[in-house]
Amino acid sequence: MVNEKKTRSLFNERSYEFQIMNEIQRAKTISKILDQKYPTIKVPLKSRNVFTLLISVLLSAQCTDVNVNNVTKNIYSKYYKPKHFVKLGRRKIEKLIKKIGIFRIKAKSIYNLSKILIEKYNGKVPKTFEELENLPGVGHKTASVVMSQGFGYPAFAIDTHIHRLAQRWGLTNGKNVMQTEKDLKNLFPKKKWNKLHLQIIYYGREYCKARDCYGLTCKICSTCYPNRKKPIKTKKA
Ligand code: SF4
Repeated sequence: MVNEKKTRSLFNERSYEFQIMNEIQRAKTISKILDQKYPTIKVPLKSRNVFTLLISVLLSAQCTDVNVNNVTKNIYSKYYKPKHFVKLGRRKIEKLIKKIGIFRIKAKSIYNLSKILIEKYNGKVPKTFEELENLPGVGHKTASVVMSQGFGYPAFAIDTHIHRLAQRWGLTNGKNVMQTEKDLKNLFPKKKWNKLHLQIIYYGREYCKARDCYGLTCKICSTCYPNRKKPIKTKKA
């Protein structure tokens, strides 16, 4: 007699394997399309060293990269080391970045983190996630961008845009950004993480915007989901 429990468990395993295989196939297809579309890719935030990269990423929270670059181009020509920002003091930093959203909070973080970098790290940006995430205003996403773009360490920085696209492309269950990071790291080879982070951001800006899903027209979804009939609705981050 067939053991029903065993059969059910085998079936569940198989359907899980099937699902995983599909995700892996989708990930490969997406990576191929992104490589064709964006063979080389520029880091969108302008900086002149790792410290200014850290500052730019911190400033980019809830603000566009273009806005950050417009503001920082007048700052980094003169101020580009922690000691420069400590010397400036909070009020002057606020004035310099006042065109950027939540500038008071960001100015406070910049001032305090610059002080810590001088006191604890000899004016250098530390090279570990733990040390970076202990700095004021620096979360896991900012630390990941600095580790990858500043130090070349493989990291997969997930912002709300990447989280949205990964959900829409069926690469994650969309629970939260931590889960998305875990899922994408499992699906893509480590050597591709840094580039993919930027490629997905660029694709999102060009085609897969927060408010709109074009449903059936984009290359990625028309290839991965040829039978899809309706636009996608995204769960919140
Ligand atoms: S169809 Fe286009 S806009 Fe919609 S989820 Fe797919 S890539 Fe994004």
